Amino acid sequence: MTKRITVLGSTGSIGKNTLDIVRRAAAGTYDVVALTANSSVDIIAEQAAEFQPEFIALADESQAEALRGRLAGLNIEMGFGPEALLEAARRDADFTMAAIIGSAGLKPTLAAVEQGGHIGLANKECLVCAGETFMAAVRASGAVLLPVDSEHNAIFQVLEDDPKGVKRLILTASGGPFREASLEKLKTVTREDALNHPVWSMGAKISIDSATLMNKGLELIEASWLFDRPSADIDVIVHPQSIIHSMVEYIDGSVLAQLGSPDMRTPIAYAMGWPDRIAAPVERLDFAKISALTFFEPDLIKFPALRLAREALEAGGEAPCVLNAANEQAVAAFLDGKIPFLGIAELVEAALEKHAKALSFSTAPDCANAVMALDFAARTTVDEQIVNL
Ligand code: NAD
Ligand code: MG
Repeated sequence: MTKRITVLGSTGSIGKNTLDIVRRAAAGTYDVVALTANSSVDIIAEQAAEFQPEFIALADESQAEALRGRLAGLNIEMGFGPEALLEAARRDADFTMAAIIGSAGLKPTLAAVEQGGHIGLANKECLVCAGETFMAAVRASGAVLLPVDSEHNAIFQVLEDDPKGVKRLILTASGGPFREASLEKLKTVTREDALNHPVWSMGAKISIDSATLMNKGLELIEASWLFDRPSADIDVIVHPQSIIHSMVEYIDGSVLAQLGSPDMRTPIAYAMGWPDRIAAPVERLDFAKISALTFFEPDLIKFPALRLAREALEAGGEAPCVLNAANEQAVAAFLDGKIPFLGIAELVEAALEKHAKALSFSTAPDCANAVMALDFAARTTVDEQIVNL
């Protein structure tokens, strides 16, 4: 049967890899319903010509004329602005890949969740900024959440076969490009150094998050929501080869893991095919060539972002939303050359401190609008601090 598929954030790294699986599948396997992007007219126009979706949504309304010009002659509906993203997410699809970056993806992903289909969840920031709201929406609609983040996909695969007697979850981290850099060196690293990930090829924001280890912090919070586990049950271990994608330890001392090449098309294919397995064009593991798998404790002095994320998870309530929004704003400032690398975690910590004083942190925002209002406030705090630097 043909699977109707929508890709939210189709022009990004995950979006392109998702469409690569579609491209390689036998004709008639997939029918592309809707694609969305922020402002990448050229890429989405090419995707539209190749995959012939019913509908395209562009968040950036100023690009409307440019896109209309590119798609003249093709029978594709188009929409512009935030409402159009929601419309794309609500169109009837069997599978939606949620691959918008950041809290900008919250409302479109929630709109897809409300339809009750299968959701491939790459957009981890949704769960970080709005875990309670998001999981309540999943329960209400009966949507099936299929984690795409490689670590969570690994744990999901293990738990599907063996859900009982779990003691702890162990998230692996590559350690990013600065795993061996000194704290002194981190003061002067550049944007290009930070974007140069040793193992994974990803979008800019998540690449910076991998360099600060905030990505692992966001993943800790993501895992807590997805697998309903407290912070104390989730450990992080640095594993530079990124062959083991994560592990589950059981009460009898057994540890089960999922392994594979570091290529997002494996977890993407797993989510797209679920409950079946489908082929993915990834390099096969050659164990004779893997000389060693190594493991290290994460260094929380060099990478305070991971500590801040764990503290935010443990504080609960509004703290994870503030953490996420402050981080997005600080990463954008770093990418714009406005702050040094170590400034990212400093700004996040200052935003958490300021909001902890102003807010109780005891209750989480109770709807997407409240989440986005808090997200905006935390970003404003960061902007004010940057001006005062
Ligand atoms: P990316 O930056 O490459 O792409 C982001 C996509 O979101 C693009 O299509 C872009 O047009 C769209 N977008 C950006 N801002 C938007 C806005 N304001 N409104 C609407 N659309 C907007 O990002 P990515 O690396 O593909 O990551 C996507 C998500 O998947 C993130 O949440 C990331 O954490 C997660 N993830 C990515 C990887 C990876 O390997 N890239 C791995 C695990 C998880
Ligand atoms: Mg990951």
